[in-house]
Amino acid sequence: MVKAQMEEKSIESRAAAVRERMAESAARAGRKGSEIKLMAVTKTRTVAEMLTAAPFVDALGENRVQEAASKKEVWEKEVKEKEVKEKEVWADSSKLEWHLIGHLQRNKVRKALALFDALDSLDSVELALAAERTAAEEGRTVPVLIEVNTSGEENKTGIHVENFPELLDGVLGCAHLKLEGFMTVGPLTDDETRVRSAFAQLREMASQARLRSGLPVPVLSMGMSEDFHWAILEGSTCVRIGTFLFGPRAGKGGF
Ligand SMILES: *Cc1c(COP(=O)(O)O)cnc(C)c1O
Repeated sequence: MVKAQMEEKSIESRAAAVRERMAESAARAGRKGSEIKLMAVTKTRTVAEMLTAAPFVDALGENRVQEAASKKEVWEKEVKEKEVKEKEVWADSSKLEWHLIGHLQRNKVRKALALFDALDSLDSVELALAAERTAAEEGRTVPVLIEVNTSGEENKTGIHVENFPELLDGVLGCAHLKLEGFMTVGPLTDDETRVRSAFAQLREMASQARLRSGLPVPVLSMGMSEDFHWAILEGSTCVRIGTFLFGPRAGKGGF
C-alpha cells in the first residue's frame, strides 16, 4: 500500500517535471507548452503503471502489437472500474488514444488496427497499402504518421530519406489513411548539433510535404527522454517519453 502510493506519487511528479521542461523549451522557442502533446511510451511497463500515468499524459505509445494485445483487455476493464469510482480524473483518461510507435510487420496489420487508434510508424509503401486494404475493408479511416530515419543509422527504423517522396505519394493515394504528420527517432548521441539537425530535417520534410499535398499534416512526433527539449526547439508537436516518466526500463529496453 505504502509502496503503491510512493510509486504513484513518483510518476505524477515525474510527469510534472516533464511538463515543466516542455514549457521551458517551448518558451525558448516562442511557443506554448500546452500546444505540445506528451505521449507516454509504455513498452515494458505494467498496466498499473500506465493507469497511474494516464491522468497526466495526452496519449499512449506502444512498440509491439503482441505486448499491446496482452495489456489492452486489462486496461479497458480497469479504466471502466476507475471511471465509476473516480469520475473527474478518469473522464479524459478513458479516451486516451493508443498509438503504435514500433515497426509493424505487414501480416500483423489487422491485429494492430484492432488495438490501436493510430499508426505512427508507417515506414514502407507495402505497409501503407496493407493498412489501406484493411482499413477499407473495415470501413474506417486510420490516422497515420510516416516514420523517417533522419539519423541515417542503419539499426534505426523509418523510411530512408531518399525513399520518402515515394512513400509520401503512396500514403496520399490511400483513401482510408489520414496522413497527420511525421515521426522520427533522433540519433543516439548527446551532440546537440547533430540531434537538432535530424529534427530540423524532419521539420523541413514536413513543410515540403505540406506544399506538395496542400494538406495541413500538422504533427511532428519527435523527442524522447534524452532529447525532447531539443526536439521542441525544432518544432516538435508530440514528445514520446518513457524513461523520464516511469524510470529506467529493465533489461534490454524492449525495442
Ligand atoms: C522507447 C521509445 C521511446 C521512449 O524512449 P525513452 O528514452 O525511454 O523516453 C520513444 N519513441 C520510440 C519509438 C521508442 O521506441
